[in-house]
Amino acid sequence: MQKQKVLVLGGGVAGMTGALEAAAKGFEVYLVEKAADIGGWAYTYCCKATDKCAKCSACLVPQAKMHVEKNPLITVFCGSELIGVSGQSGSYRAKVNTNEGQVTELEVGAIIVATGFKPLDAARKGEFAYDREKNVITGLELEQAIREKGSLTAAYGEVKSIGFIQCVGSRDLAFGNNYCSKVCCMYASKLAKLIRSELTDAELTIFYMDFQTFGKDFDEFIKSAKEDDKIQFVRGIPAKIFGFPYDRLTVRYANSLTGEAIEDKFDLIVLSAAITPCEDTQKLASMLDVETDEHGFFRVTSLNPVGTKQPGVFIAGACQSPKDIPQSTEQAKAAAGAAVKFLVV
Ligand SMILES: Cc1cc2nc3c(=O)[nH]c(=O)nc-3n(C[C@H](O)[C@H](O)[C@H](O)COP(=O)(O)OP(=O)(O)OC[C@H]3O[C@@H](n4cnc5c(N)ncnc54)[C@H](O)[C@@H]3O)c2cc1C
Ligand code: SF4
Ligand code: SF4
Repeated sequence: MQKQKVLVLGGGVAGMTGALEAAAKGFEVYLVEKAADIGGWAYTYCCKATDKCAKCSACLVPQAKMHVEKNPLITVFCGSELIGVSGQSGSYRAKVNTNEGQVTELEVGAIIVATGFKPLDAARKGEFAYDREKNVITGLELEQAIREKGSLTAAYGEVKSIGFIQCVGSRDLAFGNNYCSKVCCMYASKLAKLIRSELTDAELTIFYMDFQTFGKDFDEFIKSAKEDDKIQFVRGIPAKIFGFPYDRLTVRYANSLTGEAIEDKFDLIVLSAAITPCEDTQKLASMLDVETDEHGFFRVTSLNPVGTKQPGVFIAGACQSPKDIPQSTEQAKAAAGAAVKFLVV
């Protein structure tokens, strides 16, 4: 009997890892990616190594992409989207709108959903002037600019004072997102250390609520960032950023002990914008008849960290909840393992 095939939705690091894992078990995989290329957000991140590797895992992503592109068992459909599913677990007919404008029908036994996240539109937090001040940027833009230009100075010129504002749109009940985005304390402090290694005179300030120490070796990393006297950690999220009428950005925040208002000047502000569910989550959830959680991410069952209420549909990566690259790949391996087990039983 011919082996059933696996459909993976989303070609970020989770989807690519899921596809590679299923292919390594001898299964043919269709990888459907909405964007023009596979790789997802993490393919656009910079290396954060200073004199040593910062263990950010960004370099795992181009490696995974290369392996997917070379794997004869994986067929990639870029610029493509699932538009309908019929059949049942173990025997689905997936209708995919391809980049040639054609609809193709794929017969698959199991589906891994790995459609990732959408970064919060930072302009929605109007107090931070993201849409008004060109030197207010997001962490994502900083990652991409350093990767593309090679250094902070090449991307933004001579900057002396840089502020990071954490929890922008996360852990913010008034805004409607009360969950933690999990990865921004990690990437912001690694980017801060990277910038300090390039600009030895620069002053950095990280405005935070609580530090989410998450991921391998992160406690040690934060300890060493805190020992750097040019990286200041300020507890409290600023109330407002002003550009006009000043020549630099002014950040107004409260002294956490006295409550007194302080205004400091910065050349560049980096916002750690929330990780939110990707825009197709609800549409896909109803197409596949699976559930979403109270925050709008895909819900997994309480007994199976990759399973859904549909026996043949599995979830991996940041489409289930905010995760870093190692956690996304771990979940993707588990999802592929569960999909393969489902198909062979
Ligand atoms: C600013 C920032 C910096 C970060 N830095 C680090 C870091 O240094 N180290 C680290 O470990 N983690 C970091 N992370 C976390 C990292 O981005 C995630 O762990 C990773 O991107 C999750 O991968 P994913 O495949 O689940 O999702 P994504 O990267 O979001 O990939 C999902 C893919 O699915 C595609 N897609 C979406 N909808 C559909 C659809 N309907 N059909 C088909 N395809 C679809 C998307 O186009 C995308 O290619 C950072 C996060 C942010 C926001
Ligand atoms: S893990 Fe990150 S810091 Fe280390 S080499 Fe890879 S990309 Fe660079
Ligand atoms: S990871 Fe850090 S910055 Fe991000 S939401 Fe959680 S506490 Fe805030």
